[in-house]
Order: sequence, then structure tokens, then C-alpha cells
Amino acid sequence: MKISDVKFRVQDLWKALVNENFIFSFRNTREVMAMSKLETMYNHWTWELRSHMLDFQNQLINQIQNGKVEALKTSIFEAPVTEKYTAIKQELEKYFNEDPDNEILVQWKSNFENKLIILKETLISDTRRKANELIHLKKNQERLDKKKSSYANELLERSRKLALTVKGKELNEEELREKFDPLWKKWVCDVSSDLPPVIEPDIDTDSENILWEYFQKEINMVDTLMRNSGDKFQINYDEHVKMNKKYNFMTRTLKVCDRESINMTTDHIISRFNETINNIHKQQCDYNSSYFHEILRIIEEEVKSAPTEGRYTFTSKYILELSLCLFQRASKSFKEMHKAFKRTNDPVNYLERKKDDFFMNFKISCQGATSIKTFVDFLWHKLTPAISATIRGKMVIKIAGAMRATCPAFNGNRANLEKHILISLAEEENFDKYWQYIHQPESFFRDYISDHIRRYCSEKEGEKVNTFLKISLGDIKNAILTAIHKTTEVANDNNSTASGWLDLFCDHLGSNLIFPRRDLISIEHQEIKDTEFLKEAMSAALDPAMRKVEEDYSRRPKDEMIPNIEKILSEHLCGCWKQCPFCKAICTNTIPHHEGDHSVPFHRPQAVNGWYKHKTDHFVIDCCTSSVASDRFMLLGNNQEISYKNYRQAGGDYATWSITPDSSTQSYWKWFVSHFRSKLEEKYQKKFTDTGEIPEAWAKITKEDVLNELKEQ
Ligand SMILES: [Zn+2]
Ligand SMILES: [Zn+2]
Repeated sequence: MKISDVKFRVQDLWKALVNENFIFSFRNTREVMAMSKLETMYNHWTWELRSHMLDFQNQLINQIQNGKVEALKTSIFEAPVTEKYTAIKQELEKYFNEDPDNEILVQWKSNFENKLIILKETLISDTRRKANELIHLKKNQERLDKKKSSYANELLERSRKLALTVKGKELNEEELREKFDPLWKKWVCDVSSDLPPVIEPDIDTDSENILWEYFQKEINMVDTLMRNSGDKFQINYDEHVKMNKKYNFMTRTLKVCDRESINMTTDHIISRFNETINNIHKQQCDYNSSYFHEILRIIEEEVKSAPTEGRYTFTSKYILELSLCLFQRASKSFKEMHKAFKRTNDPVNYLERKKDDFFMNFKISCQGATSIKTFVDFLWHKLTPAISATIRGKMVIKIAGAMRATCPAFNGNRANLEKHILISLAEEENFDKYWQYIHQPESFFRDYISDHIRRYCSEKEGEKVNTFLKISLGDIKNAILTAIHKTTEVANDNNSTASGWLDLFCDHLGSNLIFPRRDLISIEHQEIKDTEFLKEAMSAALDPAMRKVEEDYSRRPKDEMIPNIEKILSEHLCGCWKQCPFCKAICTNTIPHHEGDHSVPFHRPQAVNGWYKHKTDHFVIDCCTSSVASDRFMLLGNNQEISYKNYRQAGGDYATWSITPDSSTQSYWKWFVSHFRSKLEEKYQKKFTDTGEIPEAWAKITKEDVLNELKEQ
């Protein structure tokens, strides 16, 4: 097939872009093909490393939860990570040496080796951070845990004494309950009367006082406080921003891009707020009034760093009303948090929740030798939810891995994903979606990935997901069965007690489950004479328990896993999110916070981002790559005029972008501008006229043309 030079150049660049590093210039199609193959391999290698680290991270977290790891030594990471990394490095080495195109490939080798090292380091530091946070959290809880276990020990002791008085009387469940209940009530009463009185925090008053103090200078503070009742924030452009005067006397008007940027600042504040609240929740600590100050700090920071370009200022009314709204949302959260904290940590609540465990212990103590069944029931009662949680964690990684391998949108790099996004946007022809993609690409990508996951999980009535469920259930079943058998082998030799058996069992389960040994103290004093019988009883209960886990799983809402899968895939596929200040094209570098300039091979007509000619309402339809080659000037927010050729002097985002003069544009965005011309005119309140008139040639491009152009690559 013969292709014209121009077409080849566009295709060539596109392929290079899809293969990420368009900074490499390609001399011929063979090079392009070689890079394409290499990128697919690279995606596979990085996923191998990433999923290995995710599994390792889950195991580490299980061990920390089980109390087996109390401090992080470098050696914990060293062996498992290095081993996998070395194996992948060898594969890469082999590929570069043995591929038929190795002469071509060699020029890119060091770049790919570097990217792999960067990924390895990022994955290690991520895991280290998560593990450290958890260890820190556990240490904080230790004091409370000790207190709880001292109460528990005392109750266990009393329960055993009570059991001695009825031993050998062969009481049934109901009779046992009758003995147990009144004494239980008395014990709990004893414990609670020993406790110091708790001072309840007054969260609403704290919130009001902190606001009052912070906004003392606001005259209408009381009014606003009184009036405000909802936790919804509605932006009011007239009241929330003040336009700065031009040359100190001319009034500016609010442009569409100003509105978008105001909305973005507000979105940023809200999403940082949500993140902060989530983090506080994760720490499982009690409410503290300093959290309110943290919210004020976020708003302050974001308002200060908002990209206003000197055109407008956020009013104090904006800060006040937004603070009020976020404080109200936070108050609700903090109240729940305090309640949850009390539920977990208040000794009386704690004991009430553990009542069944204590009764079980009492029952075992009363029944003596016949109690292996009760012992096994108790153990499975604890194991089943732990298995369910583990299965969910494993499924998330498995589904993400399968989607990466089988969905064409996910098995290349971010630019490949973006290509698929552009295709689906054109197919749908939904302007609102385009708007989100242009102005909030991060959230758009997340939604796109989530949609795919939802579709994948419901395909063929969830057949694929069920296959993974079966595999995961099989794995965990084997792990438990092995633990039962190994434990019994050792226990037989050592003539062990229940406590010894449980120690061994938890050790053998190891990092497979979150199953802390200390949750089993209520049955550890049991006497076990026949470990073989215990083994049989445990094994017999395995299948019914697995069925229960499977049922539990299918009863849970299907959407529950989507955010976790989305997070893994997004991290695997996403890189730098910086957008070209002229046309909003997204930087294609696959490394977030990379060094050097941001860049993208294809820019768009500036009208996509609402640029217009000064003093007119005519759109600028040139692409930034041709603008930067022109003799024209651009006018900045602070009225500074800068020639396009020296755009970097404008500072800020302009200074960090490398935009090389080039006259080739994809037909995609020409089609977009022409197809959605009236929507763009309406949204930006500008016109495609005069110097901004859309060329006839653009109008002739059809959707099929642009789709074919994209799909060919
Ligand atoms: Zn651009
Ligand atoms: Zn970048």
C-alpha cells in the first residue's frame, strides 16, 4: 500500500505518540513497528512488576495486622522486589538482544531501563509509605488494645470459674445462656462503674468557634452563619469573585475560561477536603478540633495558588461560604467518626460486641472433652469473614490484570488509552463529554476506565468474574487446608494445647489472611486431646465455609470493587496531567512529576480552549504549534504583551512547556471544531468569523475520516 508523504508523517507521529516517545524521531515504518512492539512488551513487564508489588503489599499489610511485623527494615523489601525486578530486567535484556529488530531497538534501551528503575522505586516507596502508616496506626492503638485485653482476661477468668460450678451437668444451650446472662450483666456493670466519666466533644460548637475566630473581621458573619443551613455550595460568580481593574480603571468581564478556572479551583478544594477526611477516617482515631483548622488551611492554600492570571480575586465571601459548607459536611463526618471510635474503643461497647465470644468460651469450658465441635465452630466463625476480605483483595488485582491484558485500550501506554478515548468520544458525539475531557481530563479518564470495568464485570452475566472467584477460592482453600495439616503434624509430635495449636495455625496461615492470634484468646484455654479429630472437623467444615464465602460474595453489590480496580489501572496507565496552556492538550509523558519540559506531539486549534483575538469576539483557530512560529502577540491577564515566539517568557505553565513550531495538525480536532462550532460558540460566547472563520476544508472532513485515521494506527 502506498501512502502519501503527508499522510505518512501524521501516521508516523501518531504511532510514535501511541508508542509514547515521539521525542525519538523515527526514520522509517520498520522503526515505528519495532517501537510499537516494544511498548506492548513494556506494558506487560511493568504490569508484572506492579501486580507483584500489589500482592506483596497485601501480604505485608496482613502480616502487620496479624502483629507479625512491627517495624519496617529495608531487608523486608529488598529480597522480594529485587528478585522480581531482576527477572524482568533479564527478560528486557533478552528482548533487546534477541529480537530480530535488535539493531533498531538498541537506541531506546537505556531510556526503557531508566523508566523501569523509576517505576520500581515508586512502587517501593508507595508500599513503604502505606506499611508505615499502618504500623503507626497500630502503635497508636496499642495502649487501647492493652486496656481492652486486660478487661477481657478478667472476664475470661470469671467465666472459667463459673463453668467449673456447672461442669458435668450436661446443660443445653438455653440452660447455659440462663447461667451466663445474669453474671455477664453484672460483670459489664462492674467494668463500667470503674471507668472515668467520658467528656463528650461538642463538635458543632467547636466548628462555630473556629469559624468565628477565623472570620472575625467579616461584618456579616452572624448573618451568614444564621442564614446558612445546607451543606451544598453554590458558586455565585457575581459575589464570589471580584474582577481586577485593567490599567487601574477599566472593568473586566468574566470570561468562560475564568469560570472554568474558578470551578476547577472549587473542585480542587472539595476533592482535597474529601481526601483529607478520608485519611482522617482511615486513621481510626477520635475527633480532634485541629481537623477544622486543617480544612481552613486547604482553602487558604488553594485560593492563593489559583491560576487567576491576575484577572480576578476570590472574595472573602467565597472563602467564608465555602468554609461554612465544608465545616458542616466535616461536622457530620466527625460525629460519625467519634461514634465509631467510641464503639470500638469504649470497654463496655467492646465487651458487648464480644459477648458471643465469651459465651462460646463459657460453653467450651462447661462441655469439656466434647467441645471440639464448638471450638471448630468458633474458629470458622472467625475465619469466614477474614476469607471474604482476602478474596475481595485478590479479585481486584486479578480483574485489573485481566483487563490490562485483554482490553486494547489498556494494553499500551497512556497515549494509546487516549487514542481509544478520542475514538469513543467521536463515536458518541456528546459535547458535554468532550467538555469534561478538555477541561477536566483526570476525572474524565477515571470515568472512562470505570465504565470499562463495569462493562467487563457484567459481560456474559459476570462469567469472567466468576472464573476469577473460583480460582481465588481454590487458592485460599488450599492455603487453609495446608495450614490445618501442617499444624496437626507438628501438634501431634508436641502433645500440644489449644493455645499451642492456635499459635501454629496462625503461623502457617501467615500472610494469607488477616487473622490475628489475639482475637482467639477466648478459646485458647481449651484442652485438646485428639488433634486428629480436630483436623478432621476443621477439614470437614472447609467446603461449607467456602460455599458461604462464595454466597456472600455474590450477594454483595457488584459495583463495590470498581473504585479499587480503577485506582490500579489508572496508576498503571496514567502519567503527567499537565495541559498545554494554549490548547489544553495533555502532556504525554508517562512519568508523573517528570523532569524536563512538558510536551505533546499534537496540539489543537486554540479555539478548543476558547482563545479569541484581542478586542474582538473572534475565535483563534490556529494551532499553538503554528502560533508559536508566527509574529503575533498574546495578551496576558496582567496586560503584558508577549510575542508568541517568546511564549515561555509569560512564565507559569508557559515556561514549562516545549511547543515546537509545526504546521501539521490532525484532522481530528479540525473535524471537532467544525462539527461542534455552534456548541463552542454558545459555550465560550465567541464566533467563528473573520480571522477565525472555519476553513471549508475542515467542514469537508467526515467523522469516518477521523475515525479511520485513528483506527489505522
Ligand atoms: Zn497546545
Ligand atoms: Zn508533563
